Amino acid sequence: MEKKRITLAYGDGIGPEIMRATLRVLEASGAPLDYDVVEIGESVYRKGTLSGIAPDAWDVIRANRVLLKAPVTTPQGGGFKSVNVTLRTVLGLFANVRPCKAYTPFVASLHPTMDLVIVRENQEDLYGGIEHRQTQEVTQVLKLISRPGTEAIVRYAFEYARAYGRRKVTCMTKDNIMKITDGLFHRIFDEIAVEYPDLHAEHLIIDIGTARVAAAPETLDVIVTPNLYGDILSDVAAQLAGSVGLAGSTNIGREAAMFEAIHGSAPDIAGKGIANPSGLLQAAVQMLVHLGLSKEAEAINNAWLCTLEDGIHTSDIFREGLSRMRASTDDFADAIIERLGHTPERLLPAHFRSTGISANRIAPVPAIKTLVGVDMFLEWDEAGRDATVLGRRVEALNDERLKLKMISNRGVKVYPGGMPETFRTDHWRCRFTATAGGLTYTGVLDLLSRAHTAGLHIIKTENLYEFDGKPGYAMGQGE
Ligand code: NAD
Repeated sequence: MEKKRITLAYGDGIGPEIMRATLRVLEASGAPLDYDVVEIGESVYRKGTLSGIAPDAWDVIRANRVLLKAPVTTPQGGGFKSVNVTLRTVLGLFANVRPCKAYTPFVASLHPTMDLVIVRENQEDLYGGIEHRQTQEVTQVLKLISRPGTEAIVRYAFEYARAYGRRKVTCMTKDNIMKITDGLFHRIFDEIAVEYPDLHAEHLIIDIGTARVAAAPETLDVIVTPNLYGDILSDVAAQLAGSVGLAGSTNIGREAAMFEAIHGSAPDIAGKGIANPSGLLQAAVQMLVHLGLSKEAEAINNAWLCTLEDGIHTSDIFREGLSRMRASTDDFADAIIERLGHTPERLLPAHFRSTGISANRIAPVPAIKTLVGVDMFLEWDEAGRDATVLGRRVEALNDERLKLKMISNRGVKVYPGGMPETFRTDHWRCRFTATAGGLTYTGVLDLLSRAHTAGLHIIKTENLYEFDGKPGYAMGQGE
């Protein structure tokens, strides 16, 4: 069979140890693979490349389209960018898929029947890194949720559930609070769910959803959720299943895919030869499925399950009474290789199938977008932060096109008619709305010019639009 060429990155900390163990198992399985090795992580950061990825590595990664990556250490501060976030965004890896499964009684887990998959959106939400310090006291980050980004991830979750014979897809958001951003994610989930009548679809608010994952994960199956919630939830779920050392994750895009363990570079145990290679091996198994090598993937997975059944466990999952041998990284890989061709007796063998990526629908007819006002944000720290004083000053900026509707502080209305108890920072949002139709941006520019001349310190503005007559902005609390 023709060999498939993939890219390897050995990473930092325990990365090289678990990569070598994983490659030995891959080779012993006879999987027809050829490798190109690229340099990423600490050594590249040290040379001053802020992305942590050597420039010539990109060509190799792009050409091979499949990357098996060991964990890397991200240096704190200093403008260094996370390699993972860069790879996910540059390669368009929109879906992060993390199966979280218990292997009881061989690996202790609070939830012996747990078997769920988290499909996390991988490129949007709060991970764009668009952050600003705006005033002496206040910082902000931009949370972006798009229609095409959400459609892609939600469709992928349904396609995955169908391919793997799963019953249910649960969407988790916080749309009771973030009605526009998380609301869009939820709405698109409902729209797409209709196209999969064979699958049960439900929505849970992320807080109660997380509680469900912690208390009753067996009631969940496939979960689809925006980036940040998925990031947190998948570590919680992996830990509940047994150990963060056991799970692999897949990052899927239309043009490329990246496979990695879910844990980090574990500097505390690096070089000791005791790390569990299972996370990276599980990632490699998912990679084989992606490459159409399901037979080899199943053989490795079964041999790995047999090793767990035989009580050959690395320190992180070793339990007196449950385990038979405390294995080093290399012992563990040897045990898997010895068991290639065996099937587990009690743990359920996996049957792998590749998952299609279906195209997004043609974008809906564009809505009619009308400018109806502007939120002008100010830094202001005078008069004991008395909102009435600021209100009168800002009201003086009204003209025949734009009129002050309210001022809020951290989202709570403080003028007109605020509560004296409301805590006030130095960051004020002044909402101006159009007095009549036909507002143009010139009206906003003129307002800003008047505010500037009046000595007010403008931080930024957000235009207020209606889409087909419906507000495209949230009301302030108490507005
Ligand atoms: P970590 O996952 O590296 O370690 C957390 C704990 O789990 C440690 O006690 C560690 O010893 C243990 N552990 C992790 N993997 C293990 C394994 N395979 N076998 C046995 N024990 C294991 O998380 P951290 O300490 O928060 O992060 C360390 C570094 O890794 C940081 O620089 C972080 O930025 C980076 N990181 C990288 C990735 C990645 O490359 N995908 C992911 C997460 C963190």
